[in-house]
Amino acid sequence: MLGPMTGAPDLSQRASSLAPSATLALAAAAKEMAAAGRDVVNMAVGEPDFDAPGSAREAAHAAVDSGQVKYTPAAGLASLRAAAARVLREERGTTHEPESIVVCHSAKHALSHALLALVNPGDEVLLLAPVWGSYDEQVKFAGAKPVHVAPSPGGQCVPDIDAIRAAVGPKTRGIMLNSPSNPSGYVWSEGELRALGEVVLEHDLWLISDEIYARLVFDGARHISPASFSPELAARTIVVDGASKVFAMTGYRIGFLAAAPPMAKAVASIQSQVSGCPNYVSQKAYEACLVEDPPEVASMIAAFDARRRLVAKGLGDLGLTLPEPRGAFYAFPDLSSHFDDRGAPGLCADLLEAEAVATVPGDVFGAPDHVRFSYALSEERLTEALRRLGRFLGSR
Ligand code: PMP
Ligand code: GLU
Repeated sequence: MLGPMTGAPDLSQRASSLAPSATLALAAAAKEMAAAGRDVVNMAVGEPDFDAPGSAREAAHAAVDSGQVKYTPAAGLASLRAAAARVLREERGTTHEPESIVVCHSAKHALSHALLALVNPGDEVLLLAPVWGSYDEQVKFAGAKPVHVAPSPGGQCVPDIDAIRAAVGPKTRGIMLNSPSNPSGYVWSEGELRALGEVVLEHDLWLISDEIYARLVFDGARHISPASFSPELAARTIVVDGASKVFAMTGYRIGFLAAAPPMAKAVASIQSQVSGCPNYVSQKAYEACLVEDPPEVASMIAAFDARRRLVAKGLGDLGLTLPEPRGAFYAFPDLSSHFDDRGAPGLCADLLEAEAVATVPGDVFGAPDHVRFSYALSEERLTEALRRLGRFLGSR
């Protein structure tokens, strides 16, 4: 007989050990404060403030009106898989064919599927700290153990290749890479990526290359996909991408992964059982963006660059040091000299309370001296946030 719906839930170990997304929770708290009437500057979530491109919106409307909103193949629409493969070949120099592509509900979903297809209980996955908090939880959820490789001295918030090589052990199954990086904005150079690729091949590992910020690179930085280096490395690399960031389509929930066909097939099988197939309407909207690069993208990228410069200068003027933000849309200053004994979480809570500026403590990314500021906001709001931050730090 079922008991009353009270008391401690009888959950699986998997569910009880999972931490919910801190970035989404903080962003939701900030949105609640705003709904209650506070003038909140929400720099907590990595979500572009732009609308989706016109062609994506038109394609979504047309899809709804077409009467074709039905199940699609588990790996996604053939036309979208072909478009994604072509974009990877043309823009990133890979050799992916459509059968390498599995369209997923989001990049997050693609990452989670990739891990489910890759790891066994007891395996370890190297995470290059600081790292987006969802990686840890996704690795654990898939049954493996996340192992952080600490950043090297130098302030750029990235481990060097010797530290990565030293962290590889008998249980290491793979490495997760995110360049451009959330949270640091670091963009890996070709030399660094080639060295990382050598570690992967030397030890028969897999590389999950999360390239969701690929087009958001500035200051002459170039995004390079390690899957373009050699057929050997391509066979051990799973590229992940999505529409959320570059096309400002967070709510459409659509992305893909690209892998050697046997791995792609395994992921499609998982998807066929877990969710059936990705959403038809969002697939059509994404396809419109990949087939014909929307003109809005160039102006979004230019806007992010101007915002990046504004925030980097503003934080520098406040005496803060930060890794040079050359990609994605985050600034990640070291604020430890302003902490009390509650560290970054205390500072972020006080900043939200006193000045209604929402940020994310570096603890979420394994970098407790830092605080993440998303600059996916208008220059006017960013200027206001910097003004409030200056007042806040001056009062501590
Ligand atoms: N990877 C990184 C590094 C991210 O910052 C995000 C942001 N949510 C994602 C993947 C997932 O994006 P989405 O699930 O919205 O496609
Ligand atoms: N990637 C975004 C961020 O880091 C979205 C949050 C999430 O999906 O957890 O803010």
